[in-house]
Amino acid sequence: MINHHVDKFFFSQKGYCPCCENEVVFESNNSWLRDHFICSNCNSLPRERALMVVIEKHYPDWKKLVIHECSPARRGASIKIKNNSSNYIATHYYPNYPMGKTIDDFRNEDLEKQTFPNESFDIVISQDVMEHVYNPKDAFMEIARTLKPGGAHIFTVPIINKHRKSEVWARKNENGDPIFLKEPEWHGNPINNNGSPVTMHWGFDIVDFIKSNSDLETIIEHIDNLHLGIRAEYIEVLVSSKPI
Ligand SMILES: [Zn+2]
Repeated sequence: MINHHVDKFFFSQKGYCPCCENEVVFESNNSWLRDHFICSNCNSLPRERALMVVIEKHYPDWKKLVIHECSPARRGASIKIKNNSSNYIATHYYPNYPMGKTIDDFRNEDLEKQTFPNESFDIVISQDVMEHVYNPKDAFMEIARTLKPGGAHIFTVPIINKHRKSEVWARKNENGDPIFLKEPEWHGNPINNNGSPVTMHWGFDIVDFIKSNSDLETIIEHIDNLHLGIRAEYIEVLVSSKPI
């Protein structure tokens, strides 16, 4: 007899969305909730809702602060922050264009070598970016440099190695293309259809990595709150604070 069984996963949950601030239904057609458990109203993902909750918790007055978001998404927390901040600047990296200039409504910035002055921002936000940088040391140092005292880098990054050490996954060659040290891995990129190469597999030692390369102290927030649609693997939110 032929087994016609297929994985017909379906999960639906009523709740409140921290991104669109509505009573909504969260739904997933796939058991991998991290990429599929969307808000039916704004399409946000669990990690985006978690980020929003953490920003509101640590900086309840975020709407009045100076915020830099690196490589924003076109939905979820990025849209909410952009629409509600009086002082929000979004950057993307276009390596073939001059740095510091505006391209397609974004300022062109290399996260590892930014053109912003020291102590420019109250909050720097990045969402699933730090697993794609080739020189995370430089990126964290630059983020620390551009934060004001008392400010913080608030970010999501999949800590897939958990208690195992962080691993370098790819380096780049002289043309800027990835040389994978392990199995090639790519994630979606809002401004590049080829996607972004995964360069790091982070473990919880990311906290020590940041500390050893900057003056930032990092805590890891882990939220599991079904009512807020925050349930999935690898949705930790990191808060790296610059001393006052
Ligand atoms: Zn929503």
